[in-house]
Amino acid sequence: MPSMAANNFSRNTHQNQTKGDFVSRKQKIEQQRKNLPIAAVERRLVEEVRNNDTLIIVGETGSGKTTQLPQYLFKWGFCRDGGIIGITQPRRVAAITVAKRVAEECGIPLGQKVGYAIRFEDVTSGQTKIKYMTDGLLLREALLDPYLSKYSVIIVDEAHERTIHTDVLLGLLKNVQKARSKSINGVVNTDHNNSNNGHALEERIDNQNDGILKSCQVKKYNPLKLIIMSASLDARVFSEYFGGAKAVHVQGRQFPVDIFYTHKPETDCIDAALITIFQIHLEEGPGDVLVFLTGQEEIESVERLIHERLRQLPECSRKLLTFPIFSSLPSEKQMRVFMPSPAGHRKVILATNIAETSVTIPGIRYVVDPGLVKARTYDPKMGVDSLIIVTTSKAQALQRSGRAGRDGPGKCYRLYQESFFEKLTDSTLPEIKRCDLSNVVLQLKALGIDDVINFDFIEKPDRTAVVNSLWSLYLLGAVTEDNKLSDVGRQMARLPLDPVYSKALIVASQFGCLKEMLICVAMLSVESIFYAPREKLEESRNALKSFASPEGDHLTLLNVYCAADEFFQKNKMVHSEEKAEKNLRKWCKDNYINSRSLKHARDIHSQIVRNVEQMGLCVTSCEDDTLLLRRCVAASFFLKAAMKQPDGAYRVTLSGLIVQIHPSSVLFRAKPECIVFNELVHTNHSYVRNVSRIDYLWLVELAPHLYTVQD
Ligand code: ADP
Ligand code: MG
Repeated sequence: MPSMAANNFSRNTHQNQTKGDFVSRKQKIEQQRKNLPIAAVERRLVEEVRNNDTLIIVGETGSGKTTQLPQYLFKWGFCRDGGIIGITQPRRVAAITVAKRVAEECGIPLGQKVGYAIRFEDVTSGQTKIKYMTDGLLLREALLDPYLSKYSVIIVDEAHERTIHTDVLLGLLKNVQKARSKSINGVVNTDHNNSNNGHALEERIDNQNDGILKSCQVKKYNPLKLIIMSASLDARVFSEYFGGAKAVHVQGRQFPVDIFYTHKPETDCIDAALITIFQIHLEEGPGDVLVFLTGQEEIESVERLIHERLRQLPECSRKLLTFPIFSSLPSEKQMRVFMPSPAGHRKVILATNIAETSVTIPGIRYVVDPGLVKARTYDPKMGVDSLIIVTTSKAQALQRSGRAGRDGPGKCYRLYQESFFEKLTDSTLPEIKRCDLSNVVLQLKALGIDDVINFDFIEKPDRTAVVNSLWSLYLLGAVTEDNKLSDVGRQMARLPLDPVYSKALIVASQFGCLKEMLICVAMLSVESIFYAPREKLEESRNALKSFASPEGDHLTLLNVYCAADEFFQKNKMVHSEEKAEKNLRKWCKDNYINSRSLKHARDIHSQIVRNVEQMGLCVTSCEDDTLLLRRCVAASFFLKAAMKQPDGAYRVTLSGLIVQIHPSSVLFRAKPECIVFNELVHTNHSYVRNVSRIDYLWLVELAPHLYTVQD
């Protein structure tokens, strides 16, 4: 990288400098690659993949699994028949940063041989041979290409995370692998356990091809190599699931890490984290700090507080740089955390649990672990899905502390007492056991797997959860009374959204307000549009007033988006795109809007506009008819309605749960009689967010299968 000083060089020198840098960087990368623990077993791993159709690879975080194995397989000819290598990640950030790194290691621009694809972003081309993607995205691809025919190898990475998509994918891949080898051998599947699902895949493929495949001329597919990679040492569960598949261990390299606990319980974990960060900065030797936080909001407030405290320190102590990393951070910013800290400076990386195993950031010697993580939970009795902050498991705490011992001996500060650690659960419950399944059930049905309860899951979800999701899909009109996918359901499955949001777009196209609903859905799909720092609560509330709609948060979000868009378009008429973007960021700052979140919403918006256009839906606007839009909101989100109680609290109509309107809602004070909402958050109370005022009679009219006229 040319430094500030390099700018003073004459042009020629500068060029030489850059070239020299490039060569040495290339050599440095080569050296780094050679030194990775996995490099020592390259040949052996390739042999194992060659000899086993399904292989489980277990290796410590940072040993080089994700970045190196795909390159080895490419080098040793696993793409020779034209197939590509797909690697799934539970997290978007991992897919993006790893793909960028691998492209750099190969010395080629991203999107050519190496690319990535995540929901709402595809950076691949016809030349792509190594494709990183999210597990959810590969599931979507299976909808269009049930044999996943373009892949010769699929690597399911981070399988220990057991995200819901990974779990479903494992079941699906097992079938695809079987179906593909059957297409070659022409043998009948005798595995009775899976006959149900294996059949579904064949039937679906048959239907898709108008029964051409029903004749003996089954298309021949190359066999699919399946590799399951995990950072946890327990490979047994995967091995058993894949009929005793072989597991190999890659020996890692780990330096000792000293663990520290607090003497007493911490009440304010942000404050405790700050104190610890500064203690490390002022008292400890060189090395970067990694802090685990629960989400974008927390990360941004810690970042701000660090800068505030830095200003109070003497000049010489201010050499501390902050680097946030979380999923909705624009991808050009995500790579910054990997840059080495400038001489004499210390880096503090503020990360969500993305940095636990998915990405390895070099240079970390200190880990600060408050022991918390944001997790999806689902209450099958209440039928509500919510994001809550929970304590980590022991396995997660160990992974986190391990991050301090990659480059040398390290220290980990757990912001809780030792006795508390003993009480943590050993490992995290797989996501499929604790989240709403409607999306998965809808996708499985669209894949032709009707009997979801008997699907060959690595771990079965609770029956009640499956039944509940079938019930809500039925209420949304996605499945029929006899549990078959309806036409609406098929349309919904094509959209890369939560079923409720997909349905909202379809309903809106009938109401004639799809233009507005596309914006609402895009805005609802991102975290924290409003930027409300603790110390500027008053100012941010005032700023919100200019957008606030007395009708509720949906219309408020629409107002924000439209105001931002108008500002941007006007700017674009007189300035370059870049300048217009810059001005928009300034506008966001002035208006207490989170520009990162808004950018993300704008990206999502342009993607889903394309989606609905491909589906042939008509994007019309209701102009200023907000009544119509609110009726559409009611018709879309009727599953989450609540009525005001005499004491001012709300009772959720379907579950009976008592909730409050969240203080961030524009309706917090207005307290209308009847509301619909999108999100439920549990802190000390149960709060609902993204709320709109509606008329109860609309529910009776628009969702008569669920609501009747009351007294
Ligand atoms: P694993 O998958 O086994 O956890 P990875 O393949 O992700 O390991 O990482 C291997 C090494 O590559 C790590 O030491 C990590 O620091 C380095 N690395 C990964 N991504 C980057 C990046 N974007 N920039 C610099 N180094 C990176
Ligand atoms: Mg990895």
